[in-house]
Amino acid sequence: MMKFSEPAKELSVYGEFDTIVIGGGVAGFTAAIAAARNGANTLIIERFPYFGGTATASLMANIVGYRNQVKPDAIQTTKGIGEEIILGLLKIHGAVKSRNAYASEARSDQKGDLTYNYAFDTEKFKFIALKMVTEAGVHILFHTYFCDVIMAGDTVTGVIFENKSGRQAAFAKVIIDASGDGDVAFKAGVPFWQTKGDENSRLNDCLMYKITGFDPEVSAPGCLIDGTMVVWGPSPGATNAADGDELTREEIKVRLAVYDDLAEKQKQHPDLKDACIIDTGSLIGIRQTRFFEGEYTLTGDDVLSGARFGDSIAMAANPVIHYFGYRRFLTHEGYDIPYRCLLPKTIDNLLVVGRCMSSDQIAYESWRAMAHIFALGEAAGVAAAISAKGGVTPRSIDIMELQKTLVSQGAEIGQSRK
Ligand SMILES: Cc1cc2nc3c(=O)[nH]c(=O)nc-3n(C[C@H](O)[C@H](O)[C@H](O)COP(=O)(O)OP(=O)(O)OC[C@H]3O[C@@H](n4cnc5c(N)ncnc54)[C@H](O)[C@@H]3O)c2cc1C
Repeated sequence: MMKFSEPAKELSVYGEFDTIVIGGGVAGFTAAIAAARNGANTLIIERFPYFGGTATASLMANIVGYRNQVKPDAIQTTKGIGEEIILGLLKIHGAVKSRNAYASEARSDQKGDLTYNYAFDTEKFKFIALKMVTEAGVHILFHTYFCDVIMAGDTVTGVIFENKSGRQAAFAKVIIDASGDGDVAFKAGVPFWQTKGDENSRLNDCLMYKITGFDPEVSAPGCLIDGTMVVWGPSPGATNAADGDELTREEIKVRLAVYDDLAEKQKQHPDLKDACIIDTGSLIGIRQTRFFEGEYTLTGDDVLSGARFGDSIAMAANPVIHYFGYRRFLTHEGYDIPYRCLLPKTIDNLLVVGRCMSSDQIAYESWRAMAHIFALGEAAGVAAAISAKGGVTPRSIDIMELQKTLVSQGAEIGQSRK
């Protein structure tokens, strides 16, 4: 490949912050809210002009994981900000119980009594997320692309980004990488692993699309709310969505296949005969790319055995969706996720949260549920605020203080388990 040396140039410094969050998906915007609510001067950088990432840009309109999908399901495993979001959506008729056997009618949908999963209106989700982020006092930069890290030895001290104003720098005491693909950790040189090529050993990407005009009593699967339904559309097969060319090929393939996909669904489900497509995700739904090595790597054994950790920051109970070809439900109330999963090996002042967190494949297929990722984002935000306030690195914060703060702010970190 030909090489070109970019000439060095002076950049304007946009500002100095306690915390900078890269990426405004479900991990990032919850992290920004939590950091700001805990007193950190917080900047969030997001390439789209709204929050939600996969949930909104990719129309993934079904939040799962508020409790175990099957019994024992007495504990609501995600509370805190993740609960506030769903209660906020329910209040404006932006979410409804999903149409499946796992969304129990017996649950009241009140605080502390959420059901396993909810379908939601992606526009109302954008509204609620933006409202919560602005009310927390977070400084927002939309239409902005993170490009590079600024390092002092093994410590990340700032970021370089680009938008219509050009290329700029910003500094922070703690950077939270919530970019999904771990762009910050990648640039900082944190070791990672990635599954490529083998469709049977990973979760595949898929273009979600929204339809309307179907029979109101529709039985075909999809996330149904207010006469529109988001359906799981074409998949490109196993590719590497962290590669610019491959991602482009994925998008082209699924977008050219979308009308055939609907026609196929219409053959299988006569109640979709008059349906038409009114929206496709702005971005194909990307399930997994890089996983960064943290101080602890969550394993399938931890998930299946209901592991408990002294540094727990979140609890999860979602099934492993692809367990050697079947859905592996958990036989316990839930397992803990340790803080160490967010602490990248080798690099300081960085927390890595969301779908690229330190994990093996089996564990990921459980905790990847959005309810759990809300909880992890909240924990990352609180940890960053404690770190910035105390002038210590995220690696050295007092874990008890982090846990106490999370619980006092309504989060579930496993304290409800006997
Ligand atoms: C097809 C599919 C089906 C799924 N089904 C379900 C389901 O039914 N229920 C459920 O709960 N979960 C489901 N999931 C999983 C869930 O949606 C994800 O695990 C979760 O949304 C990941 O959130 P995140 O914030 O970690 O990452 P992302 O959603 O990927 O967010 C990353 C954010 O960072 C931004 N970003 C990335 N790079 C940059 C950059 N360089 N500069 C600036 N911004 C950047 C992106 O725009 C995005 O907003 C599904 C996922 C997919 C793809």
